[in-house]
Amino acid sequence: DVTATKGNEFEDYFLKRELLMGIYEKGFERPSPIQEESIPIALTGRDILARAKNGTGKTAAFCIPVLEKIDQDNNVIQGNYHLILSCGWMRSVIIVPTRELALQTSQVCKELGKHLKIQVMVTTGGTSLKDDIMRLYQPVHLLVGTPGRVLDLTKKGVCVLKDCSVLAMDEADKLLSQEFQPSVEHLISFLPQNRQILMFSATFPVTVKYFKDRFLTNPYIINLMDELTLKGITQFYAFVEERQKIHCLNTLFSKLQINQSIIFCNSVNRVELLAKKITELGYSCFYIHAKMLQDHRNRVFHDFRNGACRNLVCTDLFTRGIDIQAVNVVINFDFPKNAETYLHRVGRSGRFGHLGLAVNLITYEDRFNLYRIEQELGTEIKQIPPHIDQAIY
Ligand code: ADP
Ligand code: MG
Repeated sequence: DVTATKGNEFEDYFLKRELLMGIYEKGFERPSPIQEESIPIALTGRDILARAKNGTGKTAAFCIPVLEKIDQDNNVIQGNYHLILSCGWMRSVIIVPTRELALQTSQVCKELGKHLKIQVMVTTGGTSLKDDIMRLYQPVHLLVGTPGRVLDLTKKGVCVLKDCSVLAMDEADKLLSQEFQPSVEHLISFLPQNRQILMFSATFPVTVKYFKDRFLTNPYIINLMDELTLKGITQFYAFVEERQKIHCLNTLFSKLQINQSIIFCNSVNRVELLAKKITELGYSCFYIHAKMLQDHRNRVFHDFRNGACRNLVCTDLFTRGIDIQAVNVVINFDFPKNAETYLHRVGRSGRFGHLGLAVNLITYEDRFNLYRIEQELGTEIKQIPPHIDQAIY
């Protein structure tokens, strides 16, 4: 159970009053296990390499120490002169692999830090660089962004990392993939010697070991993955032919009690086609993929989160870190190619101890993948029964 803890309270960590207020106002009563492991250690300044399953509260596990360690008065007490000079001088940076996740994470920081006098700024590719530069003329304490953009701002000198004491990396394994690793390493070269690095992820491939040896100092390793990773999520498969998939989806829509659902396809084209079909069937549906303009993506993401629509069709763009508690059903319209992707997709339901349902449409070609992924994750994906008890999701 992800809510089973050692019995610590947030008060035990001697956090600033204002931060505690933000935590309680967000509705967190007690730290989750990953938070119990990471918060006290992170507060001592030690590097952390943490792995915990989806939906267990990793975001707050690094945001709380990051917020606590920002000296909120630093800019003010030294007077206006210092204030002007200190523009662009970050105290902390959080990097994440996707734009949507950056928005979500900055939102969490703003909520938790609501009563702290600190400025949080979010910056991602796909938005105007000039606007970001303008915004950095105001004091900003905490920058949340994607690596490429943060690096751009740093290379231009508008974002200064000489005083940046903490770097948090969420979905760290993704940040160390070929796509991001060069930017991340370059970014780290701008940090001061005595920096602290907090790395979080649900999956840790070998790239992490190399990075750990090279960039982390005596890291505290947290591994809360022993429990079944997809606990709370019931997984089914349905054997179908490619041309029956829509029909099958239609049946699922009519039989399942969907609160909100995310439906995954393997390509941008298929996302658009499927979204069109679903609308034709008379169900409400949004779609999101990487080829859409960023503004549009943000709007769809925002509206879906606010419940404006029941179903969202997307590519893997949407898999990592996204936390929408209302999502109780995930459908793999196209089955993913590997276990890691499967884990991240299906982990979009069943957030923070809620139950969830995953349905996989499996074609003849997918069958070996299905067995392999089941094996690799040590999980069970059962054939879909004619009737699914609503109590399990
Ligand atoms: P992860 O990054 O581990 O997948 P998130 O950080 O996205 O998980 O958190 C999942 C959900 O749990 C979020 O909606 C978050 O608000 C909620 N949550 C996190 N910590 C707590 C807590 N201590 N008490 C109650 N809810 C929490
Ligand atoms: Mg997360």
